[in-house]
Amino acid sequence: MEKDEFLTSQYKKLWAEAGLEEPIRPRLRRAPRRKKDAPAPASLRSMQSIVDWIGDCTRCGLCEGRNNIVIGDGNKRAELMFVGEAPGADEDKTGLPFVGRAGKLLNKIIEAMGFERKDVYIANIVKCRPPNNRPPQPEEVSACIGFLHAQIKLVRPKVIVCLGASAAKTLLQTEENISAIRGTAQELVAVPELDVKVMPTFHPAYLLRNPSAKKTVWQDMKKVKTWLA
Ligand code: SF4
Repeated sequence: MEKDEFLTSQYKKLWAEAGLEEPIRPRLRRAPRRKKDAPAPASLRSMQSIVDWIGDCTRCGLCEGRNNIVIGDGNKRAELMFVGEAPGADEDKTGLPFVGRAGKLLNKIIEAMGFERKDVYIANIVKCRPPNNRPPQPEEVSACIGFLHAQIKLVRPKVIVCLGASAAKTLLQTEENISAIRGTAQELVAVPELDVKVMPTFHPAYLLRNPSAKKTVWQDMKKVKTWLA
C-alpha cells in the first residue's frame, strides 16, 4: 500500500471509531520527489545559468519545506554584495531575499550608504528556508554553498558584507565570534581566486532585537564606503 493510501485508511478508521462523520480529508503535503539534480555545468556565464543549475533543487533536506528557492536579487555587476544566512518566511513566500522586517532595515542601511537596493546584489548562504528559521546545518551549507560561490564569481564585487555569524563563518572559514571580527577587513577565504574585501557585521535581524548595535553597524558601513571610494 502507498504511504498516502495507508495514511488515508488510518485517518478514516480513527474517525469511524470516534463515531464521527468524516470531514473533508486535509491535503497531505507531498515532499518534492527526490530526483537527480544536475551536475555543475562546465562554465557559468550568466545568472540564468546558475538558476538553471539550481533547478528544482533537492540537494539537501531544506527542499522539503520550502515554497520558493530564494536565489538572489539586485545588480548582477554590483560592486557591493550583501550575504545573509537563509531565507525567512517572507522570503520563502516571495522568492526574494531580505524582504521582511530585517530586509526593510537592510534597505535603510543601503540607502544611508548612498545606494539604492537595485545597485547592490543580495544573497544568502543557503537558498531555502530552514524550518522555524533555525540556522542552516553544516550539511545544508555544504550542499548549497557552491551556488553562492558561483554567484560571487559572476558578480565579482569589490566588497562583500557578511551579515551575521553564519555568513561570516562560511565565507571566511573561521570559528571566530562575529563580535570579535566585525568591523575588520577580511579576505574571502572561500573564493581565494577573487580579490574581494570582506566586512563582517551584525545581521539586520540582530539589530531589530538590539537597536543599540545599529551605531556599530553604521561604523562598519562607513568603512565599506571608504573601501569602495
Ligand atoms: Fe538545494 Fe540549497 Fe535549497 Fe538545499 S538549500 S535544497 S542545496 S537550493
